[in-house]
Amino acid sequence: MPQPKSHVLVIGAGVTGLTSAVFLAEAGHAVTVIAAHVPGDSSIEYTSPWAGAHWHTHATPEDPRACDWDVQTYEYWVGVLEREGRDEKLPRAGLKLYDSFKYWDFPVKEQIWWAPYVKDYRVLADHQESFRSINERTREDAGKIQTAVAYRAVAVNVPQYLLYLQERARKADTVVIKARLPVERGLQHALEAAEQEAMNQGRSKVVCFVNATGLGAAKLCGDEAMYPIRGQTVLVKGEAKTIFTRSGVDYGAYCIPRPGSGSTILGGTKEKDVWSETPDPEVTEQILKHAALNIPELMTGPDGGFEVISVQCGLRPGRYGGARVEIERVGGKRVVHAYGHAGGGYQNSVGSARLTLRLVEESLASVPVGARL
Ligand SMILES: Cc1cc2nc3c(=O)[nH]c(=O)nc-3n(C[C@H](O)[C@H](O)[C@H](O)COP(=O)(O)OP(=O)(O)OC[C@H]3O[C@@H](n4cnc5c(N)ncnc54)[C@H](O)[C@@H]3O)c2cc1C
Repeated sequence: MPQPKSHVLVIGAGVTGLTSAVFLAEAGHAVTVIAAHVPGDSSIEYTSPWAGAHWHTHATPEDPRACDWDVQTYEYWVGVLEREGRDEKLPRAGLKLYDSFKYWDFPVKEQIWWAPYVKDYRVLADHQESFRSINERTREDAGKIQTAVAYRAVAVNVPQYLLYLQERARKADTVVIKARLPVERGLQHALEAAEQEAMNQGRSKVVCFVNATGLGAAKLCGDEAMYPIRGQTVLVKGEAKTIFTRSGVDYGAYCIPRPGSGSTILGGTKEKDVWSETPDPEVTEQILKHAALNIPELMTGPDGGFEVISVQCGLRPGRYGGARVEIERVGGKRVVHAYGHAGGGYQNSVGSARLTLRLVEESLASVPVGARL
């Protein structure tokens, strides 16, 4: 077995940390992941399990880095699905391609820069499904769809995907340690504590750290640009056959089937600077009201309504200025920050993790080969 290139310690086991761990470990690094929450855990401090999630880019041409990350992830996920289709022995990632509809209740001003990068992109005319039937069901005094496009998009069975990433990282010899790092005495102290924790478990000295702590970075490295964007969702019985997202004048709505689970996530809220994990019953009602209009086929309950499994909130790791993916030297330690992916952590994940890998390897260039482990 070839000698690992270096020991990299990733802090965080959300989609950002685990994807980074997979890319680092598969590139030949010895990787340790330390996280307060790992796949299977449920906490408001751990965003990744609360996501929908699907590929629906929020990036704009003003942020070419995020556009590129999203395109890379789309292509990578399609590749994962193609490989799974060819080899039934491969572990299933929990991804699936669906027809995805995007509706606007107003003329679209944004640039749909991503159209050439997705499969089967098409603009719908108002007599085409599902544009026509939704507008027919809509009351005359309510907002109607004015623009609709369709394309093929990937939905993610989030709990399954996180376990899949963790398993892939472990197969490449990554060690995952569940531990909370202290935040009160600053990042340098937290890095020292992380290294000590890893060495207590028989790991070697750390050559480079990756900080993938999501919203936790606000405390871990005192980043005041971080803020939560709360999203409330309703998990219902029945797996929708298509994805939709809808932008209304004063609301957002989406429906994301959770592949292979027999359930669907309904949502659409974005509340800036709200930290509470308690769902708001009025918001639940609004989510179900929009879903009833857009996806009535899921109303299979005995009373003709949705069969609600659970209602929950997650906090997207928002950051003024966009995600922070860059190298910093902290008291002589090399750190690659990778946090603040807001509402796009899944669709950013592959492009962001590849950049993290590149930055880690760049940061190692100044380390003599004999001192990298
Ligand atoms: C309702 C909702 C819907 C969403 N839908 C989508 C979607 O459709 N598509 C999409 O791309 N994205 C979506 N997102 C956004 C996506 O979920 C996030 O961008 C992503 O999960 C962030 O992942 P992360 O790994 O950066 O952070 P997290 O998942 O929060 O992981 C942070 C990790 O750091 C660890 N950590 C933090 N502090 C410490 C500490 N002091 N010591 C040790 N460990 C620590 C935590 O334990 C955890 O393991 C959605 C989010 C929400 C809430």
